Parts: sequence; structure tokens; C-alpha cells
Amino acid sequence: MNTISFIDLKLAPEILKALTESGYTTPTPVQAQAIPLVLEGCDLMAGAQTGTGKTAAFVLPMLQKLLPFASTSTSPARHPVRALILVPTRELAIQVEESVKTYAKHCKLRSLVVFGGVDIKTQTPHLKTGVEILVATPGRLLDHIEMKSVLLNQVQILVLDEADRMLDMGFMPDLKRILALLPKQRQNLMFSATFSTEIKKLSAEFLTKPRLIEVARSNATAENVTQKVYLVEQADKHVLLAQLLRGSDATQVLVFTKTKLTAGRLAKQLQKEGVAADAIHGDKTQLERMQALDAFKQGTVTVLIGTDVAARGLDIDQLPMVINYEIPSAPEDYVHRIGRTGRAGASGKAISLVSPEEERYLAEIEKLIKCEIEKEKAVVPHAAQNSTRTSRAPRGEHHERTHAPRGEHAERSHSPRPAAPKKSSHDPWFDKPYEPSASATPAKQPEQPAGKPKKEVAALFVRRPS
Ligand code: AMP
Repeated sequence: MNTISFIDLKLAPEILKALTESGYTTPTPVQAQAIPLVLEGCDLMAGAQTGTGKTAAFVLPMLQKLLPFASTSTSPARHPVRALILVPTRELAIQVEESVKTYAKHCKLRSLVVFGGVDIKTQTPHLKTGVEILVATPGRLLDHIEMKSVLLNQVQILVLDEADRMLDMGFMPDLKRILALLPKQRQNLMFSATFSTEIKKLSAEFLTKPRLIEVARSNATAENVTQKVYLVEQADKHVLLAQLLRGSDATQVLVFTKTKLTAGRLAKQLQKEGVAADAIHGDKTQLERMQALDAFKQGTVTVLIGTDVAARGLDIDQLPMVINYEIPSAPEDYVHRIGRTGRAGASGKAISLVSPEEERYLAEIEKLIKCEIEKEKAVVPHAAQNSTRTSRAPRGEHHERTHAPRGEHAERSHSPRPAAPKKSSHDPWFDKPYEPSASATPAKQPEQPAGKPKKEVAALFVRRPS
């Protein structure tokens, strides 16, 4: 039981005021552990899943340490970059900086976020006015360094957020280049959801005598998330998904696919069926991605479909449901995905649609999270395959339909077939931060408005015999 208050953590009144305004009453476990250590000046290696409050765990003590440098001067020289927060994705960058702004509301400290995919020229003037806290994706930061629009020689605190994901995405060379430009004397804080051997190597290379904190068992899934698996043929997944989306608990659902192609196709298909769905993936412009995310947060889009990379870092308060349309081949990604729900103590549901071909990945996930997920066999009636039909199949009629051979499914269904899962969940979009797209076009509107009645699609669930 954690009974420490923010006052006990000796945070400055300016910071406490912002926390009260945000409605925070008690520090989360990662905050209670990390804040005193960061204030002491220790390097930190923190194992904290997303949704545990890890952003405030490093931002709050960072603000406290930078407060003596707060200044209202307009001179850029009085506002050098003193804290650098590196994150793997643009969405996470935006969200972390939003948090910095919220917590620093009453501090005279400036912050800025820079990421790829938008015109670099729009960022340069802001950088040149001087900022104490810079949140950046590695590629875009290197662009700015090359353009000499930023100097990092006064960085006192470095944060590597979601370090495991940065390594997964091949950011190691970029990180090394950036770190070589920082003063040797600095504090390093590393946050990672999982503790792989690579992460331990990274820690040994970049951190000095780090203090280790782990708020949840590494690779554990959030305890307040109810997990469930539906065993279903790949070809029947769309019908099952449509059915799940009609449930009363599916008010705001994040759906994961393995590829951008599947995400896009699925969104289009659901839109045609009257579901307010949109996709968020690397083929969309930054503006489109931000608009889709905003619409999802506002509730005009109720189903957001994304790949692991695109959905990484999304912080949506109390997201009630996550559906894995395809489960990831890397079991750690499952932990990241379901961490999108059940955040900061709220309860959530994580549903996975698992085809016979994916069952071996499911076994690896269960091994990693050290628990068996409840399974139910979903049987989708033939009639429901054609999404233009509206009648519900009589309950029990298709009760024990055996799995049809693959060829039969292919002929029977007229709907676009999701792309075959690729081996890697790495989204190649992320390899493109060096190509700033000058012209971002407005997001396409869903083909049908949110209010349109949804079509009936039938699916039956049959409990798996034990
Ligand atoms: P994070 O793990 O940093 O992504 O934070 C997850 C969510 O928890 C965010 O929506 C934060 O606003 C929220 N949060 C962080 N710290 C606290 C706290 N001490 N009390 C209540 N909510 C919090």
C-alpha cells in the first residue's frame, strides 16, 4: 500500500499546484520510487510499463532540478537545453511534451517537442528562441543538430523513454551519435517496459551506477486488465471483430494489426459497415495521424486501428478496450499493446483474435506473462461472411462447425482478405524520419459519419471444451 503524498516527496509548490489541478492526489508506485532517487542525482534504470505514471516519474523531479534556472528573460542564451527526453515515436513525443507543459504550468521553464514527418523549418525558430526541456525523436534531433539549430552542450539530464522500443527500431546508432554530443557529466534516466539482455547492455553502456527500480514484475501485464482470447479462423476475424465492436463495452476501442495494409483495409471495411473507424499508421501524414488520434480522443471515431509502432505511446485516459486483430509475433509487443488499457488504476479489457496459425505466438505470450489467458472458440456462421446480410444466425445452428479448409474460406468471402502476417512487427515507416514531408494533407474523413446505424453481423461464441 502506497501512502506517500507528493508533499512528502518534497516537490516545489509550483509543481504541487499543477498536480492538484491535474487531479493527482497520490504518487503512483513508480513515481514514489523514482522521484527521490532522481532528486538525489542518481542515474536510473526503471522497469515500468506504460500506464504506470512513468512520465511524471521523470518529469516532476526534472522540473524540480531545473527550477533554479527558470527565467523570464527573452534572451535565448538564458534558455539552453538542460534536459533532453528521447522517445521512439512522434505520438509519444507529443504526449510526453504535453505532460511536461501540464506539470510545468507554473514554472518559468520552456519546453518544445521536435519529431520527423513535418516541415523542419516550422520547428527551427522555436528551437532558436531557447528551451530548457526538449522532447525529441532521435532522427529529427540529428537533423536539427546538423542544421545547427540546437546545441546540447548544457544538457544536465538525459531521459531515454521506452528504451526497449528504441532498440527494437534500430535507433542505437542514432543514440550513440546524440550521446557523444552531450556533456559527460550528466544524469541519465532510462525507462523501459521490458528488461531484455539488450536493454541491460544499453544500461551498462550509458548509465553510471544506475539505481534499479521495477514497479511491476518485468514483462508482467497490467493486473487490472481482463484478458481473453477468441480462437477463430483468420478469414472469420472480420465478422467477429464487427460483432465485438457492437458490444456495449466497446465504446472506445483500439485495434491492433500486424501491418499497415491490414490496418487501412480494416478501417475502410468497418467504415463501410457504418462503424466510426479510422486507421493510424505510417503511410498517413503526421497531420492525418494527429487528426485521427484527436477524433478518437473526442469520441467522433470510436475504433482506432493501428500497428504496434503507430499506436506506441498513445495515452488515452481510461481506454476501456484493446483488441488484437492479429497477435504479435514478438510476445513483448503484447505487453505493450494491452498496456494501452487499464491505465493508472482503471480497469480494461484486452481481447485477442487468434487463428490456428497464430496459436504458437499465443503460447509464447502466455509463457512470457506467466499466465494462461481464458480462451473461447468463436464460430462465425457462413451467412455472416457477407457483410451486406443483416440477419442474425439462429443461436446454436453453427454451434460445432468444423474449421473449413483454407481454400473454402477464400472462395466464400468477398471481403478483402487481411494481408498475411509478416514475420517482423517492425513498421518500416519508422525508418523514414530523415525525409521531412513539407506538405501535410488533411485527413480523409471516414466514408460514413459516426452516427450511421451499424449493420447486423452475426457471430457465435462457443466455450472451448476443457
Ligand atoms: P504514463 O504511464 O506516464 O503514460 O501515465 C499514464 C496516465 O496516468 C496518464 O494519463 C497520466 O495523466 C496519469 N497519471 C500519472 N500519474 C498520476 C497520478 N499520480 N495520479 C493520477 N493519474 C496519474
